[in-house]
Formats: sequence, structure tokens, C-alpha cells
Amino acid sequence: MMLPHIEYLLPETLEEACRLLAEAGDGGVVMAGGTDLLVKMKAGGVVPRLVVALGRVPGLDRIAFSEQGDVSIGATTRLADVAGNERIAYELPAVAEAAADTATPQIRNMGTVVGNLCNAAPSADNAPCLLALEGSVSIQGPSSLRELPLAEFFKGPGLTALSCGEIVTRVVVPKVGRASGLSYRSLSARGRVDIAAAGAAALVELADGVCCKVRVVLGGVAPVPLPVPEAAQVLEGTEPAADRIVAAAARAAAACTPISDVRASAEYRRHVVEVLTRRALAQALERAQANAGRAS
Ligand SMILES: Cc1cc2nc3c(=O)[nH]c(=O)nc-3n(C[C@H](O)[C@H](O)[C@H](O)COP(=O)(O)OP(=O)(O)OC[C@H]3O[C@@H](n4cnc5c(N)ncnc54)[C@H](O)[C@@H]3O)c2cc1C
Repeated sequence: MMLPHIEYLLPETLEEACRLLAEAGDGGVVMAGGTDLLVKMKAGGVVPRLVVALGRVPGLDRIAFSEQGDVSIGATTRLADVAGNERIAYELPAVAEAAADTATPQIRNMGTVVGNLCNAAPSADNAPCLLALEGSVSIQGPSSLRELPLAEFFKGPGLTALSCGEIVTRVVVPKVGRASGLSYRSLSARGRVDIAAAGAAALVELADGVCCKVRVVLGGVAPVPLPVPEAAQVLEGTEPAADRIVAAAARAAAACTPISDVRASAEYRRHVVEVLTRRALAQALERAQANAGRAS
């Protein structure tokens, strides 16, 4: 597969990158690691006149922790950097695990977490955890900067809330409570060389032994990564119990709208996502209980 003729520019500032994109209009695209973009260009699915690569824009490759403990992952931070970050692995192990579960070592050394979000695949492995954590993206446009909750970012398969000339500069997740646990479970038919057929993230926060906050987000079973509040509500305000986890997972499966494709049938996805949600909730609870024990 050959790449079509394109103009490829490596601006050295964010302002220049936004300006170039805005001037190119529909013909311009952003490139981070290129692991999705170049495949689509070779297949003819995306035919840009101009590719604006972010590799030379300083500061975008940082993982930073604010004084309050919020975590910021920059637009050119590679999946491998997130998977291998010791503080993320300690404080938010499921975020590091989701990055480590994405693709193969070669892809993780090129591809980025933010690129995974901007590509807006319903199955994007890094989206469910970051949504469960109520993350947001910082978006730089030609003349302004805006913050957008991830919950409003995904608009459909391959579609985001980004407008012409806008670049996501980072994804930020707020600090979680000390007695919290997060988990991500996914299944793909051919291991890591293929994207997930389905995935589920769960966040559980405990207060005095009661689930005070629960989030469930599914991947690969709807047009966008799908938060399922009705599944979380089964557990919120209750003492954790196995039968409630089973009931929450059943609600998650009932809420999804999977399709059949080369990776799996809709029926199989619906079955698997119930199992994955159950396992994610059980692990998130286990982690929350361990963290609660450490905090007291
Ligand atoms: C063999 C293979 C296996 C894979 N396996 C998996 C898998 O298991 N799980 C999974 O989730 N994905 C998988 N992928 C998909 C891909 O590797 C990931 O989605 C990766 O994280 C994309 O990051 P990137 O930096 O390479 O994005 P790019 O390819 O550079 O960009 C992807 C899209 O996002 C846009 N974009 C990128 N960065 C920005 C930005 N900062 N602001 C605005 N728009 C932006 C681009 O214009 C493009 O449309 C796989 C891909 C391949 C080729």
C-alpha cells in the first residue's frame, strides 16, 4: 500500500500548528504517532492535502501531576510512556494497564494515548478508564483554548467534537479518592495485534464500607465509548455484594448496542461485555478495599 502525495509539515509551536490546520481547512489533519492515521491514508479512507505532525512542538510529551494530584497526559505522550510511568501505575494502575494492553510494543512506542482518543474508535482501549475517571481534554484552537469533558468529546465512530484547526494538547484526570479502585477488562479475538471486540472499565469508591461512587464505561459495543449510569446505580449507596455486581453487569449488557463485524457478532459482544463488566467491577472493588485499608 502506497501513501498518496501529501505535504508534511513539522511546526515548532502549537500556534503555528493550529494556524496551518485552520488554513488547510478540510484538507489538513493532525498526526501524533501516525499509527491510525497512516493506515487510513494508505487504505484511502483519509486523503489529506496536508499532514501537520506534532513531534516538534515542545512540552506536549509530558506526564504531569498537579499539586492537587490531577494527572495530565500530553498529546505526544506515547502509550509506552503511560504504560511504564511508575506514579500512574501506583495511583491509577488500570490507566497504565489499558495503555499496556493497547496493540503491540512497536505500536505503543509510536502511538499516543491522546491519538487513541482523537481517533474515536468505539473500541479505543484508553477511553473507558479515562471516561470513568471523568477526564477532560484541553483543546487549542487558532484563537482560543477550551476544556471539554471527555463525556462530550466522542460523537460517533471516528467523530469527535473537534472543529477545524483544533488540536487536543492533553487529557487530564482529576485525583481520585483514596479509597477508590479502577479496573479495565477487554477481550480481543487475536490478542494484542487486533483491537478489542469489547471492553469494560469500572471505578468504585468506598466510604465507610459503602459504595459512594461507581462508574461503568463500556468499549466496542456502541457507536462511542459508553458510560452506563444505570449499571453504576445498582451499586451506589449500597454495601458491595456479589449479587449486585451481577445485576449491574446485566444492566450494562442491556444498555449496549453492539454491531456484528469481522471481530465478533453482536450477540457475542453483548455476552462478553457482561462478563467483562462483572470482572472489572469485582477488581475495582478489590482495589478500592485494599486502598481503603491503606488509607485508614
Ligand atoms: C497493528 C495495530 C494494532 C492496534 N491495536 C490497538 C489496540 O489494541 N487497541 C486500541 O485502542 N488501538 C489499537 N490500534 C490503533 C492505534 O494504534 C491507537 O489508536 C493509537 O493510540 C493512535 O495513536 P497515534 O498517536 O498513532 O494517533 P495518530 O494515528 O497520529 O492519529 C489518530 C487520529 O487522531 C487525530 N489526532 C491525533 N492526535 C491528535 C491531537 N493531539 N489533536 C487532534 N487530533 C489528533 C489524527 O488526526 C487521526 O485522525 C492499533 C493499530 C495498529 C496499526
